[in-house]
Amino acid sequence: MKNVTGLRCVICQKVYQPDEVLYVCPDHGNEGILEVEYDYEAIKSEIGDTLPDASEGMFAYRPFLPVADDIPAPPLVVGGTPLQEAPRLAQAAGVAELWLKDDGRNPTASLKDRASAIAIMKAQELGAEIVTTASTGNAAAALAGMAASVGQKTVIFVPASAPAAKIAQLLVYGATVLLVEGTYGDAFDLCLQASDKFGWYSRNTGYNPYMAEGKKTVTFELYAQLSQQRAADAPPVTHLFVSVGDGCIISGVHKGLRDLAATGFLPQVPQIVGVQAAGSAYLYDAWVNEEDVLTKPPIAANTVADSISAGLPRDRIKAMTAVRQTNGAFITVSDEQILAAIPALAQGSGVFAEPASAATYAGFLKAVQTGLIGPDARVALILTGSGLKDVTSAMKSVGQAVTIPPEITAVERIFNHL
Ligand SMILES: *Cc1c(COP(=O)(O)O)cnc(C)c1O
Ligand SMILES: [Zn+2]
Repeated sequence: MKNVTGLRCVICQKVYQPDEVLYVCPDHGNEGILEVEYDYEAIKSEIGDTLPDASEGMFAYRPFLPVADDIPAPPLVVGGTPLQEAPRLAQAAGVAELWLKDDGRNPTASLKDRASAIAIMKAQELGAEIVTTASTGNAAAALAGMAASVGQKTVIFVPASAPAAKIAQLLVYGATVLLVEGTYGDAFDLCLQASDKFGWYSRNTGYNPYMAEGKKTVTFELYAQLSQQRAADAPPVTHLFVSVGDGCIISGVHKGLRDLAATGFLPQVPQIVGVQAAGSAYLYDAWVNEEDVLTKPPIAANTVADSISAGLPRDRIKAMTAVRQTNGAFITVSDEQILAAIPALAQGSGVFAEPASAATYAGFLKAVQTGLIGPDARVALILTGSGLKDVTSAMKSVGQAVTIPPEITAVERIFNHL
């Protein structure tokens, strides 16, 4: 926390001290999301000339994080997820390089662990008895897991339609789970009301200013790993693809780039491409039509990729900035393309991704097909969640397995046919 200089409102640009305000700008309500600002010289002198190694996880980058020195990181180790090159997929798509940052390999199997680790530490700083969040599933599972690792109580609001595996995680970790008969937006509003009423600490995305700070560590790790795994004279990566629901991950990825640039660790600013489901394309629409996201009304979101189903993206202002400032783009993919991307990505790389994560690969393919990126592109995909989170959707995109009696003749019959 010692390197934090203030919290700046994304609407009025007013800067608050961290002890002045808990979540959002008092003058701008729930839209007045705050951005954490740092003393980069202090960070730089703490870190030195090399970006810390990614293998130790997200807290290797602690000088960049808004947490008090005396609060320990949760024992469940977050981050340090693998970066792997995918040469077969790169060749098939016709790009120079393709890298996969597999954040499904976090302790609760999604990138949300990075934010929830920070939430638990902030709750400890404040001595909060209960931490709450609304979630499409993964943020909640991450919060419940981190909370369990330190013995913290949680109350979780998720849409009743959330995939079974995500609800199972919540219950197994011992969270108090409220299945809301409504959308994620309904769950979000209800959770904010409850946290106000009962004084619970709120982890909500695009509301709590510290969540994007946790998520930005994926960018630090990515660049540390790229510099280790690529030749020293390799030209910089040109594009980062990330799927977008509320827009907090893309904002965090962008914040990570700005932090790296400010401390001299970024070789070149890549273009950020935000991938949205066609049925939940609030930000894509706003970007294409140059609409003001402060006044654009919510849409009715409907997609198989539950983790990016958001009728009113909470972090829409920062998400739009991430794409605009990096000269990037938004792109949409259909549910069919998302489902088809699950086995295509798995078979081309070994990474099994949930729909919202595979959407990133689907968006990459579409960007190649539409000429948004060309043969010189050197691309990294942020893969956000494990395929085991939603097996029902995964099964929709693969054929049935063959059932046979336990007899060799049955095997022969099949292979003689082939
Ligand atoms: C939350 C989530 C996203 C989208 O992140 P936002 O911050 O809501 O844009 C994408 N993929 C997975 C697996 C997620 O859990
Ligand atoms: Zn403000």
